[in-house]
Amino acid sequence: MSEPSDLDSLLNRMRSATAPIRSTLQAIYDQFLPLRSGTVANYIPELAAAEPDWFGIAVAGVDGQVVEVGDSQHLFSIQSVSKPFVYGLALENHGRDHLLSKVNVEPSGEAFNSIMLDEATNRPFNPLVNSGAIATTDLVPGSNYTERIKNLLAMFENYVGHPVFVDNATFISERTTGHRNRAIAHLMLNFGMIEDRVDETLELYFQQCSVLVNCRDLAVMAATLANGGVNPITGARAISTEHVKDLLSIMYSCGMYDFAGEWGYLVGLPAKSGVSGAILVVVPGKFGIAVFSPPLDERGNSVRGVAVCRELSHRFGLHAFEAHFSGGTLADEFRPIRS
Ligand code: GLN
Repeated sequence: MSEPSDLDSLLNRMRSATAPIRSTLQAIYDQFLPLRSGTVANYIPELAAAEPDWFGIAVAGVDGQVVEVGDSQHLFSIQSVSKPFVYGLALENHGRDHLLSKVNVEPSGEAFNSIMLDEATNRPFNPLVNSGAIATTDLVPGSNYTERIKNLLAMFENYVGHPVFVDNATFISERTTGHRNRAIAHLMLNFGMIEDRVDETLELYFQQCSVLVNCRDLAVMAATLANGGVNPITGARAISTEHVKDLLSIMYSCGMYDFAGEWGYLVGLPAKSGVSGAILVVVPGKFGIAVFSPPLDERGNSVRGVAVCRELSHRFGLHAFEAHFSGGTLADEFRPIRS
C-alpha cells in the first residue's frame, strides 16, 4: 500500500477535528427543528414563499475549516445582513469621521424601518436600521451606478470567496414595494444627509438586500471578520483590521434591531439578522456562525436562529464577557463548558 499523500493526511486530520463539531451542530439542529413559532416575512412574494422548516447552521473557523448541517447550502437573499458589510466598504473609502458625520452609532430602540432621525443632528441612529443603511449605501464609491454596483458586489465577493449574484425577482419586488425606504431616503435628502441621487442609491440598496448567499457563505463572512478582515479560506483581505472593530461594535449594540440589548445580555456576541431568516454571528479571533431559518419573531429575528445562538453561547461559554478563557482551533472551542 502506498504512503498517504499530504492531502490525504490533511483531509483525515480535518475529518477527525470536525466530526465532534458536526455532531454537536446536528444535535442542536435536532433540538430546535421542532420549534415551530414565528412567521415568515411576507411583504414580498419571494420571501413569503419560504418554507418554515428550512433550517441550516454553519460554523467557519479562522483556520478555514467549515462545518455545516441542515439546509446550509440553500440560497436566500441576504437582506439586512448586508448592512454592516456595506458600512465597512463606506468606512474604507471615507474614513470614520466622515461616516460619523452622516450616521450615528447609537441603538435606536425602534423597529428596523423606523423613519425617525436624530432630532439634533438629523443623522440616522445607526447604520443597521434602514435609514442608516441607506445613508451608508449613498457612500458606496464609484463615479456612476455601474461602477458602484460593481464595487458593492466585489466587496461581498472578497468576504465569501466566490462570485455573488443578485436575485432579480427579489430586487424587483423590493423596488416595487419599497415606498417606506423611498420616504426615508427623501427625508434624509431634505436634511442634506445624502447626495441628490436618491433613485440610484435606492436601486443600490435594493440590490444589496437581494444578493444571494447561503448559510455557509455567511459563516465565512463572519469568520473573515473574526479573522481581522482576511478571508480564512482564500487569504484575501476584505476589510482593514482597524475597521473590523467598528463593525463588530455596531453589530454588538445594534445588530438585532430592538432586541439588541437582550441579545447582548443573553448571547453576548456581535451579530446581524435579516428578514430572510438569517443570523450572522462573530466570535472574534475564533470563528463565525450562521443560522438560516425563515420564521421570524415579532422583532424580525429568526426564531430558531436566536435559539441556536443562545444555545451555542451558553454551552461553549462564548459570551464576550464570560470569565472563561480559551484559545485555539475550532475543535478546541467546541469543548462544552456546560451541558
Ligand atoms: N429589504 C428590507 C428592507 O429594506 C431589509 C430589511 C431587513 O432585512 N430587516 O425593508
